[in-house]
Parts: sequence; structure tokens; C-alpha cells
Amino acid sequence: MTLTAEPSTPESSLSKSAADEAALSKSSLSKSSLTESALLDSVPGLLYIGGEWVASESKATLTVSEPATGEVLKHIADASPTDGLRALDAAAASADEWAATAPRMRGEYLRSAFDLLQQRKDQFALLMTLEMGKPLSEAAGEVAYGSEFLRWFSEEAVRISGRYGQNPEGTGQIVVSQRPVGPSYLITPWNFPLAMATRKIAPALAAGCTVVVKPAELTPLTTLFVAKLFEEVGLPAGVLNVITTSRASDVSAPIIADPRLRKLSFTGSTSVGKVLIKQAASNVLRTSMELGGNAPFIVFGDADLDKAVEGALAAKFRNIGQACTAANRFIVHSSVAAEFGHRLTDRVNGFVIGRGTETGVTIGPLINDRAVDKADDLVQDAIARGANLLTGGHRSLRAGSFYEPTVITNVQPESTILREEIFGPVLSIVEFDNEDEAVAMANDTEYGLVSYVFTENLARGQRMIEKLDTGMMGLNVGVISNAAAPFGGVKQSGLGREGGAEGIHEYLSTKYTLIPN
Ligand code: NAD
Repeated sequence: MTLTAEPSTPESSLSKSAADEAALSKSSLSKSSLTESALLDSVPGLLYIGGEWVASESKATLTVSEPATGEVLKHIADASPTDGLRALDAAAASADEWAATAPRMRGEYLRSAFDLLQQRKDQFALLMTLEMGKPLSEAAGEVAYGSEFLRWFSEEAVRISGRYGQNPEGTGQIVVSQRPVGPSYLITPWNFPLAMATRKIAPALAAGCTVVVKPAELTPLTTLFVAKLFEEVGLPAGVLNVITTSRASDVSAPIIADPRLRKLSFTGSTSVGKVLIKQAASNVLRTSMELGGNAPFIVFGDADLDKAVEGALAAKFRNIGQACTAANRFIVHSSVAAEFGHRLTDRVNGFVIGRGTETGVTIGPLINDRAVDKADDLVQDAIARGANLLTGGHRSLRAGSFYEPTVITNVQPESTILREEIFGPVLSIVEFDNEDEAVAMANDTEYGLVSYVFTENLARGQRMIEKLDTGMMGLNVGVISNAAAPFGGVKQSGLGREGGAEGIHEYLSTKYTLIPN
């Protein structure tokens, strides 16, 4: 790393990048001439290690395809285990200098990256729609949410504090300070390609940790585009490294086993999270685990049904149902279940399926055919056990990995759909008759990420805060993610929190010093 006493400031780098922006806008990337191929050409297809864009030492490449069409978007470098360790070398080599960089300066790099991301928000949105499939309007929403982590943690970088006090015996002073944990390995999933990356990168950098990021092999382009932002704002070499690979396990295991690594932050499935927790144990790593969910969405008889329907549509169909926070089980009071189901069905029948880039599309493809098969298996199992199909219930006739948005009601307790993450546009309704029953049903899962509750009775809403075993709750609202709030789950939904004032502490360790009188 080449951090000098006077590092290139984010401001000066930003003016350089502003010049780059101007050049780009004259050529390929201006809003008016934003074409898919020009955008894809502008995404580096290489590994970002030690401030350089490099091919894999094995020269291997991996192919990124568009889920809506199956067409190849780009061939990019496919990292080997050796490449992974080279990335860790770079992160380890720059760790001390980055930890010693002034918090204000760390914050300024993040703020500059935020500003540059705003200038490129259309490019980021289109890139996510291409590689992941979500409709453009939703991709724009993710840009707003995902970029906010850069701004939020640019502000948190300067608020790292400790405490100072007398020990009880009066014989000395207790000083408590915070130190960066050290080199961190960040593994992200495919469903929110920008937000899952910035939700980890921003607090890590703010805390003074250098990082190696490994995005999901299905959607690696957005993270490479993020690395380019940081390069352009002048982030010192080695602070942020990105490896893309089709060999997630082979590449990750040696990094996790390396004693130079001090932190593992993972977002993905609970099954992979458990494997990684075991691997992390051998090196006693700090871990953050953002894992799967099985969110209950409870509609009480006293709910405002208009609000509940709007909340349900957002909580279920956003991201084509492929969110850890997606409502998985609609637990609805028997007095309103029929009306709730019919109102939802009317709205769902108005959805437009298609490629996310097409105007008016509200439901894009699932990430691949396996996801379509899984959603369909869950629906057929529920129907075979007695559920009623209100709409959908089959693969779309369109070519590509599309599934018809589906509503099923009267779902029976033993149905697999109540136990597993659906991760698709399928809304399943079960009925209850009293509050205790609703709570028991909601908590009857090994997951505990988020719950949604719709009631106009404030006292009941407050009781639910106490009774529902989840790390997060939406009270009369279907989308709760916010960079300023601590995101995370209990039980098998994970360990730790991302975002909010809590997020930076995942990358800090507490140091206690005793100073005798
Ligand atoms: P996944 O577990 O299959 O993969 C996640 C990441 O882990 C990818 O980068 C993948 O390449 C990598 N990976 C897979 N096996 C690995 C191994 N053995 N060693 C190291 N890395 C490995 O999950 P996914 O299908 O990409 O994402 C969907 C899952 O993520 C769902 O379960 C969803 O609930 C969860 N998720 C959770 C949150 C949250 O904040 N709690 C957010 C988004 C997604």
C-alpha cells in the first residue's frame, strides 16, 4: 500500500474521478446513451487485489449470465485459492496503515464513494437488473438503500468512542478503547448485490479494517463496479480487495484458516453459515452471520386491511420474493382471511411478468431454474395437503426462469412451505383464532429474522414486540430495512447486526487498559 503522510484526499481523488466522469459521459456512460453493452464493458472483469486489476493466476474465467434470458453478460476472472490468499496478503499488508488513518479521512473516502455512486445510480440499477433480474424500479430502490450504508458509516467513522473512569477501589483509572478487529473476509449473496456488499464494506472500512470481499458467483458484477468506485475516489491500495470465483468453498477455506484473518462476515443461507461457523472456530474468528429467515406476517382481526394488503405485497413480492426478510407465512385471523386473500389476489393478478428492464414489469425472473422448481415443489406440496389455490401455481409460460405470482390459502400445518424459505413469488395463508395461537404459530420455526404485525390496537402491537422471537419487527409496515437501524436475527437467522450504531461494532474490538494512580 502506498499511503503517504499526505494521502491523496478523497476530495482530490473525487475531482480526478469527476474528470473521469466527464470523459465517460462523453463516451459510453452518459444517461442518455446508457446502453447495456457499454455498461457491461465498463465493469472490470478482473480481480481487484492490492489496488490492481488482475487476472486469475490460473487464467480461469467464469461466465455471468442474465436470469431473464439466459444470455451471457460477461466473462470475468475466476479466482483460485492462490488468488484468494494473494488478496488476503494485500489486506494484511495494508491493515496497520489503514487502522492508523484518521477516522475523518476514512469517513471521507466512504462519503466520496457515496457521492460517486449517486452519479452512477442509473448504471448500478441497470447492472443489478441485468445480473440479478429484479425490475429496474426495485433496483433503483436498492441503489438508494445500498448506497446509504456508505454515507451512514462515513458519519459513524468519527463516532468511535470509549470510556474513562475510576476503578471501584479508587486505585487507578479504567480506560476502555476500541480497536479495529483486523483483516476481514466478507462473503455476500446474490439477492441484493449492492446492499449486501456495502452493508459490510462500509462499517469495516469505517472501523479501520481492511477487507477481502467475495460476492456470489451469480451476481459478481455489481461488487466489481463498487471496487471501481473506491479505486476512483483514491482509496489506498490493499484496503479493499475483491475476488470473484466459482469455487467459493475451495477459495474461502484457506483464507478462513489463515491466522492473519481476524473477522468473517457472511450473508447467505443458514446451511452454509453453519459450515463457515465451524471453519471459523479453528481460528477463533469474530463472525457476523446474516442467515435465512421464515418471516411470519400476522394480520389481526382489528388490522387496517388496506395497510395490510399494501404491506403484504411489499413484504412478499419485492425482489420477486427472494429476500431473507420476505414474508414466508401469512398468519391471518379467520374473520378477515377470506377478504384479505381476495383483495391480494386481485392485486397479484395485475402484476406484469417480464425482463426487469422492460417498462411496467413488476415481477422479474427467479435467479435460476432450480429456484423455480423449488417454489413449484412447495406449492404443489401445499396443494396436495389441502391448500386452495387462488391464483398462479405454476411456472410461467414465458421462456426464462419465471414463476407465476401465486396466492394459496387454507395451508395445512404440516406443509413444507411453512418450514422452508420459499424464495419466490408465492404467498401462503394460514388462519388463526386467537392471539396466543398466532404467537405460537409465528414462533414455531428455527428461524428468527423478522416478523410483521398488522393491528390497530397499540397495546397488542406492543405485546407482539415482547412475544415474537425475531431480531426485527415491522408494525403495520411491510419493508423495514434501513441503514440507520440494526439489521439481524435471532435463533438460526444469525449472529450480530449490520447497520445502525451497532453495525460498526462488528468490526471493533474492545480494549481495556488499567492505569494505576
Ligand atoms: P448461499 O449460502 O448459497 O451463498 C451465499 C454466499 O456464500 C455466496 O457468495 C456463495 O458463493 C458463498 N458460499 C457458498 N458456499 C460456500 C462455502 N462452502 N464457503 C464459502 N462461501 C460459500 O446463499 P444465497 O443462495 O447466495 O443467498 C440466499 C440466502 O441468503 C437465503 O437463505 C437468504 O435468506 C440469505 N440472506 C440473508 C440475509 C440476511 O441479512 N439475513 C440477506 C440476504 C440473503
